[in-house]
Amino acid sequence: MAAQIIDGRIVAEQVYKDLAHDIASLKEKGVYPRLSVVLVGDDPASATYVGNKQKACEKNGIMSDTLHFDARISEFRLLDVITELNQDRSVHGILVQLPLPTHLSPDRIIEAISPDKDVDGIHPVSRGRLSSGLDCFLPCTPAGIQRLLLYYNHSPEGKHVVVVGRSGIVGMPFAIMMMQKKAGANATVTVCHTGSGDLEPFTTQADILIAAAGKANIIQAGMVKPGAIVIDVGTNRIEDPSKPKGYRLAGDVDFDRVKDIAGAISPVPGGVGPMTIAMLLVNTVKAARLANA
Ligand code: NAP
Repeated sequence: MAAQIIDGRIVAEQVYKDLAHDIASLKEKGVYPRLSVVLVGDDPASATYVGNKQKACEKNGIMSDTLHFDARISEFRLLDVITELNQDRSVHGILVQLPLPTHLSPDRIIEAISPDKDVDGIHPVSRGRLSSGLDCFLPCTPAGIQRLLLYYNHSPEGKHVVVVGRSGIVGMPFAIMMMQKKAGANATVTVCHTGSGDLEPFTTQADILIAAAGKANIIQAGMVKPGAIVIDVGTNRIEDPSKPKGYRLAGDVDFDRVKDIAGAISPVPGGVGPMTIAMLLVNTVKAARLANA
């Protein structure tokens, strides 16, 4: 039987519907949630991501502005920009679009963001709070994956979750979330990375498999347990002259074959991507609420 398709667009719309009430009640109090996005350089993928975030804000009644800087901006100047945004009381959320040009230290830039405005959930304070099980801005992609699983009644509780990838924005925080003794988590977690060797012995044990390596088609049908829930985070640009943009997007999972094995699977595009944006808006509204509590 073909797998259930986990549709991030549908779930994101539900998130926006739920959020509309919170946004309206903030506005009644004169609080207008606002996100500032910092974009450095002209990386086309980053420009697309930022554009999508801005569109989602506009559509859902959140103010947003993008501060776009030349790739040669100095770290000193960029830190100044962050300080100004930290001090601006009308700005509730700050997002610095990564990756940054190599002369800029992402760690120093992210650390400069006020933890109260860290709506991407990647400041060391947010990470520490997450690891300690405290309330925090959850990183957007892991939070989005959790929502997807819960929306489709695939609770991770008591399940074996295998995560391929341990980055600070996806794999690692998702693994931390899943292993916590909390509702919507409480799973047994295995994390794979480039030091894991052959992935198959791990991935075939997964009740829930999260592919977040950034390698197209790294997860093949033989690596998936029949009936497993497969969430594909990978967003890989594959050159394709037949497409208007000259490329197509592919996930980390060989979707066409894995869909015949898995119990449920998220597509790329249309799976995790819309959820990442939705959770950014959730965090921005939360930041606005906390700033005016
Ligand atoms: P990243 O920082 O490059 O991290 C990739 C992780 O995967 C690393 O931990 C790496 O291991 C591991 N890995 C790479 N190749 C592997 C292999 N052959 N076997 C096992 N592990 C391997 O990437 P990221 O930022 O986490 O993003 C991962 C993917 O998700 C990318 O395609 C990205 O575009 C996509 N993404 C999508 C969204 C969305 O909203 N849809 C959001 C964020 C990211 P090491 O640690 O050992 O190097």
